[in-house]
Amino acid sequence: MPLLEVADLKVSYGKALAIESVSIRVEKGELIGVLGPNGAGKTTLLKAISRSIASQGTLNFKDASLHPIEPYNVVAKGICHCPEGRKLFSELSVLKNLQLGAYLRKNNADVQNDLERVFTLFPVLRERQWQQSSTLSGGEQQMVAIGRALMGRPELLLLDEPSVGIAPRLKGLIFDSIQQIRKDGTAILIVEQDATSTLRIADRVYVLEHGRTIREGTSAEIAGDKYIQQIYLGV
Ligand code: ATP
Repeated sequence: MPLLEVADLKVSYGKALAIESVSIRVEKGELIGVLGPNGAGKTTLLKAISRSIASQGTLNFKDASLHPIEPYNVVAKGICHCPEGRKLFSELSVLKNLQLGAYLRKNNADVQNDLERVFTLFPVLRERQWQQSSTLSGGEQQMVAIGRALMGRPELLLLDEPSVGIAPRLKGLIFDSIQQIRKDGTAILIVEQDATSTLRIADRVYVLEHGRTIREGTSAEIAGDKYIQQIYLGV
C-alpha cells in the first residue's frame, strides 16, 4: 500500500483547469520530486493534497481518501505542508514559529525532542531562536518553514520550491537537510524548479506540464531522458 496515491487528479480555479490529470505515488520513506515549468500545476498539486483546495479523482493517504478530510485535520493525519513563499509569522520569534508547528501535540517532552532535532538539522536556528523571524535571511527563513513543518511530526512532508530566492551557499545546505530528513524516516514530496538539485536527491521524479504528468521515472531515468536534458537541464 503506497503512503500517498494520487490518480487522475483534477483541479480547477473557476472555469480554468489547473490540473487536468495528474497521477503520482509516494511510498513510505521515499523522497519524490515533482518538476515542471511555471504554471504547470505543481503548487496546485500540493494544495490539493493538503486539502487547501478542492479536487476530483483519487487522493488516498494510507489507503483512505483525503477528500472528506477538512484542511485543519490534515496535519493530524500525518501530512505537513511547507508552502511556497514560506508563510512565516514574521512578527514572531523563530522559536514561536517552530512551536506553532506543534500546536496539536500534547506531549511536551516529545515536542522538546523534536525541537532539538530541528536545531541539530539547522544549528543556526538554535543561535537565532529568540530573533524575530522577519530579520532572518531568505535561506534561514526557509529553514524555519521546514522546521515548523517537521514539528508537526509528518509521515509525509510536502515542500513547495524550498530553493527559490535562496543564496547558492544556503541552497546546498537546504537540499542536504532534505536528504537528512528522509534518512530519518520521513517521506517527502518536493516540488521544484531546480531540476539538477532535485534529481541529485530524489529517488523518483515526476514531470508536470500543463496540468498533466508527462514523465515519471527514477532520477537516473529522468536525468537520462533527451527531452528533459534539453528543456530542464540545459544540456
Ligand atoms: P509556479 O512555479 O509558478 O508556482 P506551478 O507549477 O506551481 O507554478 P500553479 O501555481 O499550481 O503552478 O498554477 C497552475 C495553473 O493554475 C496556472 O495556470 C495558474 O495561473 C493557475 N492558478 C493558480 N492559482 C490560481 C488561483 N488562485 N486562481 C486562478 N488560477 C490560478
